[in-house]
Amino acid sequence: MKKIVVLTGAGISAESGIKTFRDSDGLWENYRVEDVATPEAWENNYELVLNFYNERLQQLDKAFPNDGHNYLTKLESHYEVQIITQNVDDLHEKAGSSNVLHLHGELRKKRSQVNPDYILEIDKTENQIKKGDLCPWGQQMRPHIVWFGEAVPLIEEAAKLVEQADIFIIIGTSMAVYPAAGLIYYVKPGIPIYYIDPKANETPNVSKNTIRIAEKASIGVAQLVNELLEKAKNAN
Ligand code: NAD
Repeated sequence: MKKIVVLTGAGISAESGIKTFRDSDGLWENYRVEDVATPEAWENNYELVLNFYNERLQQLDKAFPNDGHNYLTKLESHYEVQIITQNVDDLHEKAGSSNVLHLHGELRKKRSQVNPDYILEIDKTENQIKKGDLCPWGQQMRPHIVWFGEAVPLIEEAAKLVEQADIFIIIGTSMAVYPAAGLIYYVKPGIPIYYIDPKANETPNVSKNTIRIAEKASIGVAQLVNELLEKAKNAN
């Protein structure tokens, strides 16, 4: 089976009602990113940060995968599929994708500030990280999110996966957030690269031979998945 590696960004979840922030005048759900998604924000006002992520978590319960997420699962019938997502939502999992690596963390998890390996699922009935929820080292638990300005611990694992790709697909990302955007440089020479984003034709940070599909995820992914499934069936 050929291996498809898919890099997704906030755009794939836009049609599920979860906003990207690059498309909303630099604000993310009405907050300045600097106030809620940086280590400094946590340092200055951790209650605001907790409230922001608790709101995002509760929003997730009302969000459902769209055709972008759903069509990707269909590829698994004829390809080995690895998704690398920059998203902190769980819509790939809800759609049924088998292999999902979350580069920037997960809304449904919390972790210790002292020991980054102490990571817990957030209790479903509470559905929030409470003020006073302490780790075994006596510190407030934080969202399991990679904030702007923090290292991305899974980037090397992601780069290794990209090196193994026979086909690479990028969906709904501006290719402006590093180091995630740099994963394209790990694609082996000669491997087809597809880029689905309404602004695909305006983005400079993709290689010259990238096949650009300037469509919303729901349309562009359905189109490409049908094409790749046809190819796989004809090859058998
Ligand atoms: P981003 O820089 O990847 O930009 C969003 C991209 O989505 C843009 O290129 C835009 O053209 C595209 N887009 C908009 N509507 C689309 C659609 N219907 N179909 C396909 N593409 C579409 O992402 P960002 O919003 O700047 O966020 C940066 C980081 O913030 C993310 O990497 C993530 O860590 C976090 N974030 C996560 C979520 C989520 O989990 N759903 C949402 C917002 C932000």
